[in-house]
Amino acid sequence: MTTAAPHLRWRSGYIAANAQPMEHGRQAPWPGIFIALATSAALLLAGINLWLVVAVALVWAGSLFLVTSAPPARVTAPRKGPFNQATVAQLIEHSATPLLMTENNRVTIANDAARKVLGSHIVGQDVRVAFRHPEAIALMLADEPGSALIRNLGRRKDIWQMNRQIIDDRFAVIELINQTAEAQVSAAHTDFVANASHELRTPLASIIGYVETLTDDDASVPPATRKKFLRTILAESIRLQSLVSDLMSLSRVEAEKHDEPGQRVELKKLVLASSFDAAGEARQSRIEFQCPTDINVLGDTKQLEQLVRNLVDNALNYGDPSENVTVSLHKDDNGYASLMVQDRSEGIPPEHIPHLTRRFYRTDPGRSRASGGTGLGLAIVKHIVERHRGRLDITSEVGQGTLVTVRIPELADNADDVP
Ligand code: ATP
Ligand code: MG
Repeated sequence: MTTAAPHLRWRSGYIAANAQPMEHGRQAPWPGIFIALATSAALLLAGINLWLVVAVALVWAGSLFLVTSAPPARVTAPRKGPFNQATVAQLIEHSATPLLMTENNRVTIANDAARKVLGSHIVGQDVRVAFRHPEAIALMLADEPGSALIRNLGRRKDIWQMNRQIIDDRFAVIELINQTAEAQVSAAHTDFVANASHELRTPLASIIGYVETLTDDDASVPPATRKKFLRTILAESIRLQSLVSDLMSLSRVEAEKHDEPGQRVELKKLVLASSFDAAGEARQSRIEFQCPTDINVLGDTKQLEQLVRNLVDNALNYGDPSENVTVSLHKDDNGYASLMVQDRSEGIPPEHIPHLTRRFYRTDPGRSRASGGTGLGLAIVKHIVERHRGRLDITSEVGQGTLVTVRIPELADNADDVP
């Protein structure tokens, strides 16, 4: 008895909603049976064989039962209990999006991601206390659903899009979408365009100014001054050219960032050739090599040449002109090829070091521009290193000099399938 009862209850819970009871769904067809019996009696009286009359009556009554029987009961899905706050809290707890639920403008549920952003103390708090942000509070207290962009919520500089959906006059759901990264990318893009335009405009303005003077019939320019102007025009044009070519290199390297390079590169040969290339004849004697063994890496030859040229050029430009620059290449213990470029100079003050790989960043803009620098060299180096799954470290000691180290995973000697 005790085992049967739950089964019966289960059946009624699952089927009773649609199944009809016998007395409604399958009533006996009495009028039809009565007609069948009357007809059989008439047939008997007419002298028809008894067994034949009985057979006709049975078939008639049976077909009446079939026609009037109810359709089979449909089995429906179980009716589950209504959602409550505990099940909603469980459902949203591990969502990566911060989600909250409010009841009469009091936070009743905040999932794990929301508690990380706003703190666990917000559960139970009034939304005005929980958010403490005028735009967020205005959104919470509005009669309509809506969204707002909220700055400095949680951490400083964070930007969140807050969406509020109203369920009924008591409950509302709030969703937070982090827009910080997108805002940073967009700000970086705007900065880059502004900086690039400025860098291009400066030499252009200078070229236009000198050309205007030289072409002005009224201004009689003495031959020596004329030559000086022309030399400046040439220098500024070369600067423009190298700026455009650096910008193109940077965008190419950035575009290929996720494309792992696949050429076997003999690093020793490449480092020697590119260092001499960067130094030119006039400065070659200042380079000291320490490259005992050859090392192969998987790389992009052109980009690695550019990397070496940029680093050696910096060391020669910003290092003491009477001092040598040491370029060394060796295998480190962790399976990396380690390239080091060391100069002797007054060094770089520590506050500049974290910014050196930013585009157009210069510690001494006047000096860099005077030497034809565009401020893009180390930004290009950083992207090349990233593409080669390597590491870039810059250390500098004021009064001593700067050491730039690039580590790139070494290619195993037995990697035969690499071109
Ligand atoms: P270019 O694009 O022509 O290389 P640049 O040399 O000015 O121009 P980066 O190579 O990116 O640009 O260098 C950025 C800045 O970092 C330089 O302007 C310079 O101020 C500083 N810097 C780079 N290397 C050194 C170094 N070895 N010693 C001292 N300062 C350096
Ligand atoms: Mg440089």
